[in-house]
Amino acid sequence: MTPITVIKNGEGQTALLTGGNHGDEYEGITSLLKLCSTLKQENIQGRVIIIPMMNHPAVVAGSRVSPIDNGNMNRSFPGHPYGTMTERMADYYNRVLIPLCDAALDIHSGGKTLDILPFAAAHRLDNKAQEMRCIEGARLFGAPYCFYLEEMDATQLYDTAVERQGKVFVTTELHGGGTSSPATIKMADTGIHNFLVYSGILKKNYIEPDSDPVELEIPNASCYLQSEHSGILELCIALGDEVQKGDLIARIYSTERTGQAPAEYFADTDGILAARRHLARVELGDTFAVLARPVT
Ligand SMILES: [Zn+2]
Repeated sequence: MTPITVIKNGEGQTALLTGGNHGDEYEGITSLLKLCSTLKQENIQGRVIIIPMMNHPAVVAGSRVSPIDNGNMNRSFPGHPYGTMTERMADYYNRVLIPLCDAALDIHSGGKTLDILPFAAAHRLDNKAQEMRCIEGARLFGAPYCFYLEEMDATQLYDTAVERQGKVFVTTELHGGGTSSPATIKMADTGIHNFLVYSGILKKNYIEPDSDPVELEIPNASCYLQSEHSGILELCIALGDEVQKGDLIARIYSTERTGQAPAEYFADTDGILAARRHLARVELGDTFAVLARPVT
């Protein structure tokens, strides 16, 4: 059973707020659980549908994917009514809940394996009017960074399912590591508040961030650094650090032999470190660093 809270007051817009799409990403889960018991009907006009634990079995297990069928919710759309458990849940979101909403906010973080610069994001869309509404929602979320995303493989994303139905869609990454902090929860609380104001539902003022968001994009595959070794990861730069093409990003030490020089990885492009592997143990094929570029 996946618990859902609905708060409605008169006629108006509907916002669909989700966390726990991945079960180990705690800012959305925590802030939306909080919202379910604190959002007051008299403060809204319209309807708010809140699902703090979108992939409920994964959240209960403390894992990214469902323990029932290994289902990654964000790779299960548009879903199937006779598919696996996760596909059936995706089908319900796709055919029942998304059509009810005007705007959807899906709050992700890095999970246990990644730590990511705190950002709200919108996708580049064919429909430029819809894209503008999404970008405005992402900017007003109030996170320190704002990303314009072009997904390499978007067909099975929840994001795509919402956007295909013509809705405003904003997603986030708010650090990670399989935990939360007062600072990241505050970002989620502020962002949810601002998203509901932007949607015309919450009758309050925007919470202004300290500064305008830094606008970033990930233009191509050279921004992703993947390990060609298994071993112990030493990241040589911190999240948010600027690098230039050729700079040393990481060393990976063998666990087979001592006295060997580590494998060294260098930046293929200028950029800033937008995401890093949180765990120091690394396997062949793991992405351990993602560089982003300022929007020009
Ligand atoms: Zn996620």
